[in-house]
Amino acid sequence: MRQYDLVEKVRSYNPDTNEDLLNRAYVYAMKAHGAQTRASGDPYFSHPLEVAAILTGLKLDDATIVAALLHDTIEDTEATRAEIDQVFGHEIGALVEGLTKLKRLELVSREAKQAENLRKLLLAIADDVRVLLIKLADRLHNMRTLEFVPAASRRRIAEETLDIYAPLAGRMGMQEMREELEDLSFRTIDPEAYGVVKQRLDALAEKNRNLISEIESQLQKNLQKNGVVAHVYGRRKKPFSIWTKMERKSVGFEQLSDIFGFRIVLDSVEACYRALGVVHTTWPVVPGRFKDYISTPKQNDYRSIHTTVIGPGNQRVELQIRTEEMDRIAEFGIAAHAFYKDGIGSPTEMLNRESNAFAWLRHTIGMLSESANPEEFLEHTKLELFHDQVFCFTPRGKLIALPRHANVIDFAYAVHTDVGNSAVGCKINGKFAPLSSELTNGDEVEVLTSDAQSAPPSAWESLAVTGRARAAIRRATRTAVRDQYAGLGRRIIERLFARAKIEYADDKLKGALPRLARASIEDVMASVGRGELKASDVARAMYPDYKEERVARYGLKKGLADKLKAAQPHHPARATAVIPVGGTGRADLPIKFAPNGGAVPGDRIVGIVTPGEGITIYPIQAPALKDFEDEPERWLDVRWDIDETTPQRFPARIRVDNVNEPGSLAQVATVIAEHDGNIDNISMSRRSPDFTELTIDLEVYDLKHLSAIIAQLRAKAVVARVERVNG
Ligand code: MN
Repeated sequence: MRQYDLVEKVRSYNPDTNEDLLNRAYVYAMKAHGAQTRASGDPYFSHPLEVAAILTGLKLDDATIVAALLHDTIEDTEATRAEIDQVFGHEIGALVEGLTKLKRLELVSREAKQAENLRKLLLAIADDVRVLLIKLADRLHNMRTLEFVPAASRRRIAEETLDIYAPLAGRMGMQEMREELEDLSFRTIDPEAYGVVKQRLDALAEKNRNLISEIESQLQKNLQKNGVVAHVYGRRKKPFSIWTKMERKSVGFEQLSDIFGFRIVLDSVEACYRALGVVHTTWPVVPGRFKDYISTPKQNDYRSIHTTVIGPGNQRVELQIRTEEMDRIAEFGIAAHAFYKDGIGSPTEMLNRESNAFAWLRHTIGMLSESANPEEFLEHTKLELFHDQVFCFTPRGKLIALPRHANVIDFAYAVHTDVGNSAVGCKINGKFAPLSSELTNGDEVEVLTSDAQSAPPSAWESLAVTGRARAAIRRATRTAVRDQYAGLGRRIIERLFARAKIEYADDKLKGALPRLARASIEDVMASVGRGELKASDVARAMYPDYKEERVARYGLKKGLADKLKAAQPHHPARATAVIPVGGTGRADLPIKFAPNGGAVPGDRIVGIVTPGEGITIYPIQAPALKDFEDEPERWLDVRWDIDETTPQRFPARIRVDNVNEPGSLAQVATVIAEHDGNIDNISMSRRSPDFTELTIDLEVYDLKHLSAIIAQLRAKAVVARVERVNG
């Protein structure tokens, strides 16, 4: 088939076809596939072209034909959905994308051996019935050219066709398509059986050749005699249907009626009944074979009169009597049904009328679900339910069904609670994506997890769609927050005990639980961490004679204060005395450190004298020093005096921008503890939904120690930024 032939074929049934559109699609697809070839060695483009040709046989609209030409471009070439939208419009873009999705789904579920679900999934996923029609045509052409595929894959493809696509075609009322798919599959799966049936069928047909034309002409003649204009033709049954009948009923095939059926096609319903009258008065009727599906159509809208008579040559003759429209619907099913209903205009108009093409599929399935067969009913009822779901896959092909609008968080929890709790990222169809991404049918989702995350961010609770995920997130975050408080509480208690030089032991605390009115040690720790319970109360509950420590660290000795006071008038410019800071000899000096940032050995420092209080040590970079610029008399030169043999700690403050997730505070605290820093105080503020700002007052040995801790913190994934704070 050539470009011109395709356009001509479409024009033959659709005079209003957009030839330019068809031509552009032809050229676009041909260029996109370029030098790609099929297994047969043919240019790849021959495939989409043949698929389009099959669909012209169903007289489908321009969008369907164009989408058929483009159906493999997104998956197999450089083409993108955006580009197709741009060049051919959104409608065609959506159709091509639908086919791309089905193709991916097919690959995934094939690995998973979930073929039995695939047919249902196809129905659930295709949101436009035309996607299914193109998919079936695609499969039909692939089956027609199956001989070129490596033998190993052939059987699998054929089985899949027989299991999924042939019944799907039948379900959609497309009997001709179903039969061809079945036969092509049968030939591949069981060549021997196929050969036997085919041979016998050929022999019987040959033997009855004259009889067949005799029957055709006698029927025609008798109808004509009675003024009925009819088209009569014999139709050979297909090897697969003969084979299944043989298998099902364990019978052979002998008679003409086993291999041939006859059709009488007329131009009106009235003519059908007249033809029936002629047939029944001309030949004896075989009892029990008469069915009137015109007055009572089948649920899939199939209409026809069936009867069997003993005809010429004493042969049983199976007859189907129907109008042309009924014939078309019986052969083309949804395709015919969709576009040729009485009183409805062009195919495109028909589809446009259904603003949501999805409604078409719903309608069809609804129609089918009225089936009398309870099994079938159940199946279609399920399909209805599927429309509210999305089907996704794990990388190993496990099917995960989720409600519509579900995202990766829901997916992760559906896989396993642990996967949800430790999820830190994901790939959808191989590409990195946010965890909040809404999933679409057929997505393959890989959840990336981290052992470092034991609990999810609490914000997920409002992001998750499924109850299961929400409940799990709530549970996990509650536990995580509690754990964090408990950890903090434990550190506070341990420090207090260390300072008081008394022994802390869990057992001892256990004994004190009733006095503290707490149920467990964890409860106590969490309460202390939250500030609901004072660490000293815990100590007193454990050791009734415990006395709360009185901290009078930097008490001012009277003599020094006087000395400082007295010194001021005489040294208006600047105090020049070098006062040692730190060291063992500091007991006499009322020294404290910058309240908002501290100072550590290694910092260049100055002292600021506050009469009545003492000296405050600031690093020279501290912005707070600006406040004292106008009072040079308060400035004092100081230097560090550290005794290396008795390490001492000094205060410093850092600010940490933390990714806002439970467990991240614990990670920060752990890093500091592991590197021998003491946390004196932590305050938290939420800077944005994503980050928490922590202000941490530390006690460290010196600048080197502080820098090491900062460097370690910066190495943590949960830490976005660390800065030292200078008052
Ligand atoms: Mn294809």
